Parts: sequence; structure tokens; C-alpha cells
Amino acid sequence: MEEQRIPPDQPLKVQPLKEEIEPLDSRKKWSCLGAACSDSCCFRFQQANIFIDEALRLASHFPLTFNAANSPDGKNNLTLSIILRPTVEKNACTYLREGEGCALGEDRPIACKQFPFCMVKGDEGEQKAVLKPSCPGFSDESGEPILLSDGSTNPVIYNECLKPAMIAAETAGETQAFVDTLVKYDLISIACCESKGLKVYLYIIDAQKLHALPKDTRDVLRAKGYMDLILAHINSAVHLRDFIDIYLDRKARQEVT
Ligand code: SF4
Ligand code: SF4
Repeated sequence: MEEQRIPPDQPLKVQPLKEEIEPLDSRKKWSCLGAACSDSCCFRFQQANIFIDEALRLASHFPLTFNAANSPDGKNNLTLSIILRPTVEKNACTYLREGEGCALGEDRPIACKQFPFCMVKGDEGEQKAVLKPSCPGFSDESGEPILLSDGSTNPVIYNECLKPAMIAAETAGETQAFVDTLVKYDLISIACCESKGLKVYLYIIDAQKLHALPKDTRDVLRAKGYMDLILAHINSAVHLRDFIDIYLDRKARQEVT
């Protein structure tokens, strides 16, 4: 796979940082529709935001990257993320197996475990649970009640979706501090990876810029515990070639049927 850096002003598709959310009590019931889902979450996104505590584990499955989203002040904010599939067109995540579901099981990202719920910061800075109404599993009639009659959260939803989200939310600040440090030292570049005629543009940690840093700065990164993560990030780019192979193979099979 060829990898080349491209000029930083090269336009890169900006993905929405946030989806529409609603308070938990706005919908009454929920169940995952599984294989019957007409709009599976495993088909929706090319990238998923991740947290620093899961980054090393996920680097053995996914190319780690960064997602850019416009903030209200018009700036491009970067978040830590993974690539789920190599193209933006709507197709399945590389790890979705037909008729079986996710091949990663408990190793799947927290973004997947918590969907369609997540934690957001309230007005007072407190973490609060919300839901993403775009999931077709919400209904007034069928599924698990989200809130029980005493106002507490259904334990099934709490344990399967909200608990992973709450644990992860505690590391959101640490995750962003890692990205901000990389930005501060100008270590993030846009790269173009090409394999079998397919080009994938993505944000990467630039190994050349890393090696060019003064020793003192690299010592600062090491002292913060970032070096292992940075190296895992750089090495995780190898998954992209496999992802492209799987994507092209699936596409060829779709064209035959
Ligand atoms: S969580 Fe929602 S969007 Fe994802 S597969 Fe289940 S019903 Fe579909
Ligand atoms: S990692 Fe698994 S759960 Fe997450 S999008 Fe991919 S197939 Fe779906």
C-alpha cells in the first residue's frame, strides 16, 4: 500500500461530530431490531469516535485516525476515531458478518456498545444519559421500557449500553488532551493511502514529524504515556489494506448477485 502525505489544505470530508439527541424520557421503549433493522448502526458511519482507554485494543483491529468536525466557532476540531470501512458510501462495517452480527463481540468499540444511547455534558458540567432517536428500535408499543415506574433506568439498558458509556465518559477529557497535544506539536497530517486503485484520505500521526521532534519534546510525550499509543496509531494503518480488500471483495460479490 502506498502512503503519501498531501498538503494540509487538501479538503477532507468532514463528518458530523454529533447526532441528534433527546432526553431518555422522550421515548418509552427500545429493543435492537438486529438483522431486521432497516437502518443498522453498523452501516451508518465510516468512522466512529473512540476513547483513549480503548485505543490500544482497537488499534489491533482498526486503522486509528482522527475525525474533523466544524465547531460552532467555525474551527475544525479533531477527535480520536477509527475507520470502520474505507469508503463514505453507505455499506457495512468491515467487521459485520452477514447473519452473525459483529465479529468482534466484547472487543467492539464503546461507540457501538452504547448505541443508541450516549452520555453528554449537562449545563452544570454533569454527565447525563441521552438517546439517539434515529435508531429505529424506539417504539411506544414494543421493546424494553427505558425507564421503570420508579424513574430508574431499565437495568438491561443500563448494563449493556449506559454503563460502558459512563465509564468511557470519564476519559473524554483525557482523550481530547491527547489529541490536543498532537495538534500542539503539529504531528497530525492528512495522508492518502492507495491500494488496488482505491484511494483513502485520512488524518494520521506523521512519523516523519515525530522523528524530527527535539528529544525533550519526545520525552514529554513519553512521560505523559502517549508514545505507545502514537506508535500503535502509526502501525494500525496496515489494517487499511485488509479493509480495502474486504470492501472490494464484497462489492464484487454484490455485482455478481
Ligand atoms: S441499535 Fe438501533 S440502529 Fe443499531 S441495529 Fe439495533 S435497532 Fe438498528
Ligand atoms: S465494530 Fe461491530 S458493532 Fe461496531 S459497527 Fe462494526 S460490526 Fe457493528
